[in-house]
Amino acid sequence: MKRKITVVGSINVDMVTTTARIPSQGETILGDSFQTVPGGKGANQAVAAARLGAEVTMLGKVGADMIGKEMIANLEKNNIFTANVEPVTDVPTGVATILLTEGDNRIIVTPGANSRVTPDYIRSKETVIKESDAILVQLEIPLEAVIVTLELAEKHAVPVIINPAPAQELPQSAWDKATWITPNEQEKKQLFSKKERNEQLITTLGHKGASFQKDGKEYIVPGYVMDAIDTTGAGDTFNGALTTAIAEEKTITEAVQFANAAAALSVTKFGAQGGMPTKQEVEALLK
Ligand code: ATP
Repeated sequence: MKRKITVVGSINVDMVTTTARIPSQGETILGDSFQTVPGGKGANQAVAAARLGAEVTMLGKVGADMIGKEMIANLEKNNIFTANVEPVTDVPTGVATILLTEGDNRIIVTPGANSRVTPDYIRSKETVIKESDAILVQLEIPLEAVIVTLELAEKHAVPVIINPAPAQELPQSAWDKATWITPNEQEKKQLFSKKERNEQLITTLGHKGASFQKDGKEYIVPGYVMDAIDTTGAGDTFNGALTTAIAEEKTITEAVQFANAAAALSVTKFGAQGGMPTKQEVEALLK
């Protein structure tokens, strides 16, 4: 049986320009190539979970513009239920403007419609949250909306995974409501240097895998050695996969193994969503 996951988060378009160098102040140069790619941590993690066999509902907002329509079409192409994704008229779809040069990149994220994911919008979707087997949320939407998501998940006893990226502080009472918190090493250092949250943390360690603590003991679940081509989206794949496994009521060790395997496969292909594996591919690697 397919498990129901609701992802509450950002939907962006990534506008990627490749150039030989970054222009200096007041300068215009010719770029080498340009690509638009679906992105946003919310949308990426939703695609990861859907590809791994979960029944995924997306909660978020796009602009009432062409890009918004395309981003919704992309989610639907990936079998994600989008009827609750509301277009807003006063701001455009979220955009990440990315300048790629050899050995360097510059990124500007303009949240646009993602900033309109309000607490009231989340409250209006209480039934969706209640009927989920697991909830997944990140920090690319207003923090008040993240807090309401955590509250509703707790109210209905639905496991909720929070990927604290980009790193931002939440009130203690909000972190308390999370079932699992999934920082990378940098985010862990920034947000959770004190001991108190240890038993909620699943920390991703790049190619080394991920760690968690149980009864005061640290467990490292080793990653897979791959020929990494593009690690963009490894974290998003990890979170989508972890949530899928938790919705399937796997043990935490099994869930992290599954997430490591999915994320490892994602680094062997270009692009965030483009590299996300299917359930069959992950199961083949786990054997
Ligand atoms: P990103 O920002 O690149 O998407 P992140 O910084 O959020 O990633 P990482 O800890 O770098 O998170 O990676 C997430 C997971 O992806 C790791 O726990 C691991 O399972 C897998 N992973 C990352 N890099 C590699 C790699 N080079 N080889 C195999 N697995 C990897």
